Amino acid sequence: MSDVALENLGCPLNCPSGDAAILTGRDLIHGLPGTFTIVRCRTCGLMRTNPRPTPSSMGFFYPDDYGPYLGTQVPTAAPRSKPFAPLRKIVRRLFEFNTTRLPKLPPGRMLEIGCASGAFMHKMAAEGWQVQGIEFSPKAAAAARALGYPVHAGSLETAPAPAEPFDLIVGWMVLEHLHDPVLALEKLKAWMKPGGWLVLSIPNAGALEAKVFRDNWYALHLPNHLYHYSKKTIRLVLDVTGWKLDKIHFQRILFDSIASFGYVLRKIGMSRLGSRLITFPEQPGYWIYALYPLALVAAAIGQTGRMTIWARKAA
Ligand SMILES: [Zn+2]
Repeated sequence: MSDVALENLGCPLNCPSGDAAILTGRDLIHGLPGTFTIVRCRTCGLMRTNPRPTPSSMGFFYPDDYGPYLGTQVPTAAPRSKPFAPLRKIVRRLFEFNTTRLPKLPPGRMLEIGCASGAFMHKMAAEGWQVQGIEFSPKAAAAARALGYPVHAGSLETAPAPAEPFDLIVGWMVLEHLHDPVLALEKLKAWMKPGGWLVLSIPNAGALEAKVFRDNWYALHLPNHLYHYSKKTIRLVLDVTGWKLDKIHFQRILFDSIASFGYVLRKIGMSRLGSRLITFPEQPGYWIYALYPLALVAAAIGQTGRMTIWARKAA
């Protein structure tokens, strides 16, 4: 931790200085050293991790086994045709988890920020989209490139402007990791066709589970998550950067509640059950279906831990 440089920044919305400290927590995913505080801007309500690791020291908190890099690897073997394809289609329609929900659009040009190893781009390319990505991890970017897609290995901040604007820009659980979300959203707006769609998933720091589990909340993910958006503050940040929020889909999953409960159990010494619950988001198995009715209710009242937002370039 001694070589991790920290920086202390004000609210990115240029509010007058003045924050309330909300909670203090640690890296619970990798157990890396350091204690981090989350503050809330007294003017606009936006919550952020402050102080925070600088952009150049942040790599320390993204080891090579960082889950999201591994999770999207596309198998290199020829795809096996899946059995019961029609049945799978019905099940997919019946259970809309809202995790990567997109507006109905004809295929066009898509950019994925934080494309990891390329699984989502691969899926969209199969549906006729012309895809490209930006990925901070060189290893994950190389894996995505090996699938044949153009990927900028580096940050969104350093990525060059595209030759042609996009019809759709997506980012799955990415915005909360960015050091300068205002700059990022302005940059994405400049790369977008008029009427194009921005679709982002982010944790919902306004959810009841965030308030209940506090520093044990799974989606807090300190210190990698630098901003902690609620329904109200994501709208504000989009407004300021020239985007019009169209819709918020609360994801119909209870991953974060279950994994957070796992953290609590681990802390009180129930390590075995705790560890099993912590890995639930990666391996939910059939439980994802069993919990769906409950998740559906929680999502309907805006209380699940993740949300998918749809926005368009403001006129
Ligand atoms: Zn503010």
